[in-house]
Amino acid sequence: MPKGIAASPGITIGKVYILEKENFCILEYKIKKEEVKKEIERFKEAVKEAKEQLQEIEKKAREKIGINESYIFRAHLSILEDPLLIKGTLNRIKRQRLNAETCLRNTLRDFPLRFAAAQTGLIKERFRDVEDIGERILANLVNRPTFTLSHLEENIIIVAHDLTPSDTISMQKEKILGFATDVGGRTSHTAIIARSLEIPAVVGLRDITKRAKPGSTVILDGNTGRVIINPTAKQIERYQEERQKFFSYKKRLQSAKDLPAQTIDGREVELAVNIAGPEEIDVALENGAEGVGLYRTEYLYMNRTTLPTEEEQLEAYKEVAQKANPYTVIIRTLDLGGDKFISHFPVPQEMNPFMGWRAIRLCLEKVDIFKVQLRAILRASHFGKVKIMYPMISGVEEVRKANKILLEVKKELKEKKIPFAEDIDVGAMIEIPSAAITADIIAQEVDFFSVGTNDLIQYTLAVDRVNEKVAYLYQPTHPTILRLIDNIVRCAHRQNIWVGACGEMSSDPLFVLILLGLGIDEFSVSPSSLLEIKKIIRGIKWEETEEIVLKLLKLSTPSQTRRFVQRRLSKKIEQILEKE
Ligand code: PEP
Ligand code: MG
Repeated sequence: MPKGIAASPGITIGKVYILEKENFCILEYKIKKEEVKKEIERFKEAVKEAKEQLQEIEKKAREKIGINESYIFRAHLSILEDPLLIKGTLNRIKRQRLNAETCLRNTLRDFPLRFAAAQTGLIKERFRDVEDIGERILANLVNRPTFTLSHLEENIIIVAHDLTPSDTISMQKEKILGFATDVGGRTSHTAIIARSLEIPAVVGLRDITKRAKPGSTVILDGNTGRVIINPTAKQIERYQEERQKFFSYKKRLQSAKDLPAQTIDGREVELAVNIAGPEEIDVALENGAEGVGLYRTEYLYMNRTTLPTEEEQLEAYKEVAQKANPYTVIIRTLDLGGDKFISHFPVPQEMNPFMGWRAIRLCLEKVDIFKVQLRAILRASHFGKVKIMYPMISGVEEVRKANKILLEVKKELKEKKIPFAEDIDVGAMIEIPSAAITADIIAQEVDFFSVGTNDLIQYTLAVDRVNEKVAYLYQPTHPTILRLIDNIVRCAHRQNIWVGACGEMSSDPLFVLILLGLGIDEFSVSPSSLLEIKKIIRGIKWEETEEIVLKLLKLSTPSQTRRFVQRRLSKKIEQILEKE
């Protein structure tokens, strides 16, 4: 039974449609000197057409999945202005005097060189986006319609080597039951859109296009990442039941919406959400979020050709702060780099982007950019409850440097008599082992901690968090991780500051109980997990989680901790979630 990466939850059963994109047959021919102008016009016309097509797709995306996810298509539009792609092709036409199709194809072929050092995650995805746009222009040049999934008649499951975001957005939820692809990861744009559209999806199946035959029946389980080809009648019956269970489970979760995140024995924790922009705040609050524990501001800097101005940033932060009031919004300063990058910012290519010039390191050097953001955050603090959080802190000196800059910005605002919360809390993300080990020192300089488990696991265990090949080594219950979090919490509490957890561990029912037992005070989770996590917290005694953690901390290997956690908590979680 093929097993891939569960990219979008839900179970579906249907007939396979193999989506094969035909390659363009491109003729290469020389053009005369007097034809160059005409050829350039032809290319520009094809780009203009692509722009109109993409604007139409972006409009549809906005209507279907909201402004937040439609940014992907705005990014596609910005690719149409990429000098390397457009000017590069135009220069080739002028210099080489070859037809536009050939010049564009050759420009596209050169693109991987530029992206050579960036073999992971979103950067790789972005290269696929460029290819996608290039194909669109080529299709316009050779005057043939690009394939669109909206033409499909039947209820089907798409099986493809890969899907682009524009393929995914063209999917009609009523007709396309789900999709399975050979490649891809959970962070791909395609997976992001699938989750927004609530289309079940499994990616990274390696050879599903070879194994599944057109028209055959498959069961696609987006919860576990399993795909069953030609299932038996019994398997179909079982999965239909599973499907019904999934629906009623989702419905049942709503009952905890207005209740506090409190354990049976009365420990109340804060349950906030992670957001990437103001568009997400309404739904999160409707689902009972107690504020924002992590506002990933870097998305404001992405997919555009200039840096966001102070006013633009103020508008975004203010909107979230006002809507979330009386709850708190923790605004994380720019966390660029790693798998998040912006094309208009001169970050040199690096061999190890996750460990390179990024986040707070970049901000402490590009002080002007940092100050604009700090000013916007401080000004937004006048309109609600706002806290500042620094990402990727590796030691206390970075906190001190950042705080010094913050103080300067505060002084400037005061001089100009611009109002802001003067006693604004400042926190540090603890997501690098060096910070976790020196948490006692850092705790003296900040008002709170938030544990970034996504990166803490990556850096501690030396496992690239976006590489599916080493995913088996990414172990949240590794004894080292448990000990590090234990140390962080102890150091924070000794210093009388609170400690949150905003990595994906908090969005997982099993791990959230371990974090609870370790003494975490605040959980910031992905909005779609909020109700499930609240139910879990409400279904257990804090005392019990503490007992489990005490035993866990005595174990020496990841296999032992994993087995222990499974034995002690899996059944319990099932029972809690099944309860009415
Ligand atoms: C983390 O590292 O756990 C985290 C929450 O930050 P990000 O996922 O944005 O790196
Ligand atoms: Mg992080």
